[in-house]
Amino acid sequence: VAVTGAGPAPRAAAVRRARLPRGGGAPRLLGLLLVLAAAPAGAWESSAHWSVHVVGYRVNPANLDVTDAQALTALRFGAQAWTDQSRAAFRFRYDGTSSSTTLGMDGQNLVFFRDAEGSSPTVRATTYTWKTGTTILETDIVFWDRSIDFVVQGLACNDAVYLEDVAIHEFGHALGLDHTTVTAATMYGHGGACSLSRIVLDPDDVAGVEALYPCAAAAECNDGRVCTADTCQNSRCRRTPIAGCCTAAADCDDGDACTTDACVANSCTHTAIAGCCTTAAQCDDGNACTTDACTSHQCRHTAIAGCCTTAAQCDDGNACTTDACTSHQCRHTAIAGCCTTAVQCDDGDACTTDACTSHQCRHTAIAGCCAAPCDGGAADAAADGARDAADGSLPGVDARGDVGDAAGPDGETDAGRDPGLDAGVADDGAGGADGDLDGGGPAGGEGGPGPGAAGAGAIQGGCGCALAGRRAPDPRALLGGWLALGWLLARSRRRP
Ligand SMILES: [Zn+2]
Repeated sequence: VAVTGAGPAPRAAAVRRARLPRGGGAPRLLGLLLVLAAAPAGAWESSAHWSVHVVGYRVNPANLDVTDAQALTALRFGAQAWTDQSRAAFRFRYDGTSSSTTLGMDGQNLVFFRDAEGSSPTVRATTYTWKTGTTILETDIVFWDRSIDFVVQGLACNDAVYLEDVAIHEFGHALGLDHTTVTAATMYGHGGACSLSRIVLDPDDVAGVEALYPCAAAAECNDGRVCTADTCQNSRCRRTPIAGCCTAAADCDDGDACTTDACVANSCTHTAIAGCCTTAAQCDDGNACTTDACTSHQCRHTAIAGCCTTAAQCDDGNACTTDACTSHQCRHTAIAGCCTTAVQCDDGDACTTDACTSHQCRHTAIAGCCAAPCDGGAADAAADGARDAADGSLPGVDARGDVGDAAGPDGETDAGRDPGLDAGVADDGAGGADGDLDGGGPAGGEGGPGPGAAGAGAIQGGCGCALAGRRAPDPRALLGGWLALGWLLARSRRRP
């Protein structure tokens, strides 16, 4: 029986202790000499060991301190550590849980908790072994749950004991190691509260288990793990991790947030998560008019205001612009001569009708329309003078009444001007009538050639001013006209 903690070691009746030389074996004398020569005092001790390389055990995890799952994990760690941390040809094989709390040689290697104290309140656990000679036949491990407060890694520890720290020590007893005097070793007989210092084997512990369980064949080195290749070299097991092998999804974490990691048939699979991203570059949608970003592993595409990729996106609905997309910017170019409404076609000419037809301006002359009103004003006078020059009438005279036209009828439209002068002026005597038919005022006008000027006194400009009432020359009016003309001539001569 091996006991942790202080106090006398309890002994079970069935247990017999026997000293086994280091190395457990054949070169007994050599082993002793080596120890005497090099090993520090209090190095590993053993009195018995298993004759097999694999020892099964069951666990009854029921306890007063932690969950069954927590207890199970901690206890299994303690058992497997001797294989994982050494090259020994030995392993404890977990065979499942048990409801038993029976301590005894009953054909079952059992690990369980008891609501009781050990040989003293400070004893944390006791390992019992049954053996014949130096060969272990069976083992049970009891954790004293009444006086000891157990915790597991990850839980807060307040003057408690880590189950892992105790379990690895007790399984060391279960495989045949006794206490060592090496204080840093897992098999040292005392452990502190809240300590995890024993969960890593000391070289003294490793030397002990490897000496007890050398290998002769690769099969003896099976560590129960599918992801190691186990071989035996020079009596020591070599267990090499198999690349790409897994036993759980946790073994397969590739650090990529956008893959689902799984372990299938001891091989890792990494499945891309649809729509997941880690960088903005993965979100490129090929659209120059969006800003692509990866936010919370989701692609975000934000439209860039005013950006275009095709001319169709630039349609402004205006038939008189050419719409284009240049350098991702819409350009609208006015089409010369294009119109959409008649208003745009206004040519400022009162004598045309302006229209927009098929986006083209059309200007249609209004029949009978005159550009300027028939007001007989200054514009009329200027035009009168120009016509005088053209038709050979007497300038200056004609302007005041077409006096003295010699060559023929005057076709001038002198409407509205020189009221009272032109009207009724005697004809040129050439056989045609003077075309100047003055309506006698601004409202009137000449409507046509005079009586004697048939075919020669056409109205110019197409002016549609109303023709004043035509009447026969009145001698009084003629006389008045001449008087007025004379007055005007005299007046003009007084002026510079
Ligand atoms: Zn112990």
